[in-house]
This record gives sequence, C-alpha cells and structure tokens, in this order.
Amino acid sequence: MIFKKTPSLLSVCAFFALIFCSACINDAKTPDEPAVIEKASIDRDLFYHYSIWYAFVNKVFEGDLTVSKLKTKGDIGLGSYTKLDGELIMLDGIPYRATEDGHVSIAKGADKIVYVNTTFFDEDLSFKITNTINYDSLRVEINKQLPSKNMFYAFKIHGKFKNIKCGGLNKQEPPFKEGLDVLIPNRPIFKAEEIEGTMVGFYCPKFIGDINVAGYHLHFISDDKKFGGHVMEFSAESLNVSIDEMYEYQFVLPNTDAYRHVGFDKQFQYKKD
Ligand SMILES: [Zn+2]
Repeated sequence: MIFKKTPSLLSVCAFFALIFCSACINDAKTPDEPAVIEKASIDRDLFYHYSIWYAFVNKVFEGDLTVSKLKTKGDIGLGSYTKLDGELIMLDGIPYRATEDGHVSIAKGADKIVYVNTTFFDEDLSFKITNTINYDSLRVEINKQLPSKNMFYAFKIHGKFKNIKCGGLNKQEPPFKEGLDVLIPNRPIFKAEEIEGTMVGFYCPKFIGDINVAGYHLHFISDDKKFGGHVMEFSAESLNVSIDEMYEYQFVLPNTDAYRHVGFDKQFQYKKD
C-alpha cells in the first residue's frame, strides 16, 4: 500500500504553470477578466456533486448543468444525462454516455446532466489485487485500506475482468411517471466477458443519507470505449486500485421548476456499502 498525501510532481508543476501563465496573461490583459484567477483557484480535493440523490430518485430528470461546465469541476465522474438519456462515465476528462441500447459515445459540451459526482483525481493511495475478486470482496479489500470511513473517496480501478454486468437507464419523456425506486430495479442490463477497462466512482460515508449514494458507487468504461455503465457485478483477475481522499464537499441544486416543486416521497439506496 502506498499513501501519499503530498502533492504530486505533476500537480506542483501544474500549480507553477498556472501562476506563470496567470502572470503573463495578467500583464497583457485588462484586470476585469477573472477567468485565469478562477483556474488558479481550482480545488482538487473538492467533491463536486450536482443535484441531490433524493431529487434524482424523485423524478427530477431534467438538469441545467452542461457537460462543458462539468469539465471545469473534475476529470473523473459518474452520473446520468438529462431525461436519463444514458449513464455518464467520465475518465481522464472525457465524458462518455452509455445509452439504453448499450451504445457508448462521447457527450457534447451543450448536453445536459441531471445528476453527477466529480472531482479532479490525484492519487493518495494505491494497491494491487492479483487474485480473483468480485464486487463484494473488492468492497472488503478497499474497506481495509481506507484511512477513514468518515471521509469521501474517489476511485480509479483498472484491470482485467472475466465478466462484468452493468446497468443502464431507460430514457424517459415528461411527464415522468416512475422514480428511480421503480426504474433502477427494472433497468436495462449489459454483460461483457474477458474485457479490460476502468471503474470510476466514489465512496460516501453513511451520514450522507439521501443527499447522495451512501457507500460505493462505481461506473465502468472499457479500454476500447465501447462498453460501459453502472457497475452491478463483476469477476476480475487483477485490479489496480487508485484512491483519492477528499475532505471538502460541494453540492449544487438544480435551478429548475422541477426541483423547486419536487416532493420527496420516494426513497432508494443501493443496498451494499
Ligand atoms: Zn450509477
């Protein structure tokens, strides 16, 4: 196990590059252009969360966050596009969309998102698994390694999978009839065998309640970028687990009529943590 909370060489270089660039640009531009200052103040240990899970469960299926804006908040992520038009999997700054028919594509900047978790990933801790492992035993292994169950964590877990089962969501049109309490148990399911890829995702402590998914939530994207979705089950031969600890959390509410008027009467949480 390797734990490194100190900034990586890359992030130190990036920091000085930002200072250098902002100095150059501030010299050349008028002082009323704040864009560079905003970039220099990116908080890489911030867990950014758009729309609360409770609203998403309760049929707030249209969001006002664009893919372009999401890319300013993180480089890995998971979530869903507006009207549940695909599962969102972001890896290395590229937002993928896995639609209800299993097709994977790259989302456009103007596309809207209804729920997302993201952060800028900096590895604090890593370990390898070289024996056969499934989702249940992976949870046990990560639980042993986490420095605290009271913090938030992001994951990049790459490896070889003997098989993997991923869930999608069926696209919805308004007026929305069913919440996620009905749609998730009836979700489309996609299976792959002998596939390499990356699971990206997050751990939230139980105290998060209905604001987000409590415990582990992982999405998958294959190395060839042709298969992806919400991770339900898998059996893997070897995995490299990379973990980023986060101690700041921001949630942003949808500024929409649907969110303003939603009733919080339905509940749904994935069962395992
Ligand atoms: Zn999911």
